[in-house]
Amino acid sequence: MKNWKKRTKAVHAGTRRSQYGEVSEAVFLTQGFVYPSAEAAEARFEALGEDEFIYARYGNPTVRMFEDRMASLLGYEDAFACTSGMAAVSGALMAMLKAGDHVVSSRALFGSCLYVLEDILARFGVEITLVDGTDNAAWDAAIRPDTTLVFLETISNPTLEVVDLRHVCDSAHKVGALVLVDDAMATPIYSYAAECGADLAMVSTTKHVDGQGRMLGGLIAGNKDLVRGPIETYMKHTGGAMNPFTAWTHLKALETLDLRVNQQSSTTLAITEALDGHPKLNAVRYPTHSGHPQHELARAQAESGGTVLALEVKGGKDACFKFLNALELFTISNNFADAKSIVTHPATTTHQRLPQDQKDLLGISGGLVRLSAGLEDAGDLIDDLLAALDAI
Ligand SMILES: *Cc1c(COP(=O)(O)O)cnc(C)c1O
Repeated sequence: MKNWKKRTKAVHAGTRRSQYGEVSEAVFLTQGFVYPSAEAAEARFEALGEDEFIYARYGNPTVRMFEDRMASLLGYEDAFACTSGMAAVSGALMAMLKAGDHVVSSRALFGSCLYVLEDILARFGVEITLVDGTDNAAWDAAIRPDTTLVFLETISNPTLEVVDLRHVCDSAHKVGALVLVDDAMATPIYSYAAECGADLAMVSTTKHVDGQGRMLGGLIAGNKDLVRGPIETYMKHTGGAMNPFTAWTHLKALETLDLRVNQQSSTTLAITEALDGHPKLNAVRYPTHSGHPQHELARAQAESGGTVLALEVKGGKDACFKFLNALELFTISNNFADAKSIVTHPATTTHQRLPQDQKDLLGISGGLVRLSAGLEDAGDLIDDLLAALDAI
């Protein structure tokens, strides 16, 4: 199984069949499990065998199939599936940290990640230092001998900043700090977290894995010692385990993940090229495109820049809203990686609550649009965007 390519792993890895030999993965919608005897129950509570379960908050066969398949796809030994991406991020942080610890994190973060670090963890006595994630020297200066953990988004949401992951991992590991990455934007198909040395990768499976706007889900991947040690212990007692029905829809969605992500990525690049240099735009940003200030790093780290691009409309919020409202095919929403193409105005939605000085620091301007390419025809999407830019 180790030598399988990602496309094969996404279809087959982790499959467990029941005694009926079903072809499609079974959904075990059960909270609990029965024991053949009192002795068997006692033994199972003492130590769990490979195919033994106790309670769905601890584990479930359908969820376990999904965890094994995702771990294989991401290149990690094991994974724990959670109710959402934020349950994964907050669970991993809470499981690994204690009062007095020092965390270094990139500043360009998803709004809820920033809240967990700056508000929740700070309340429990964890010291946080935020750095410009694109600046290797800033990471080196902020990581101290007593730093316990480093956190970052491999590609930041919504500004698409790229972190030199190998450099940050080396710098963190020199002082014995763990590296946790939020890998949502990189996509599980193009993820490079494991090969660059990140200890734990958290994924919002709400995004590319579901890919069809239905399910919330998340996952924490890493080596067995961490995942079945502190992570599982924290998650099983605090109640963030994934629902078996979600795991089942995710397993079926994984069968088409590679097809979808490849198609959506090539459409995103085609849109970037079509809009690059447009007179109504200040900038178009896509990690691996030559117009992105870090495209060389992005290309060295990943085969593709993913399924999201950022653009900045000239004329600020007013012009930007005219553009958004003139779109016919793109829907205005706040998710990404859906089969339907989506535009988001971060300054007034996902990042509305950030103070203006923080928005300025992160480049979340009134003209910034996050664009997620879906599975529609690329030419139709480009026509829609060009017509809406004309309408400004
Ligand atoms: C969406 C997202 C999350 C949160 O995921 P949910 O599944 O919505 O909880 C966390 N981090 C990043 C970078 C995201 O894009």
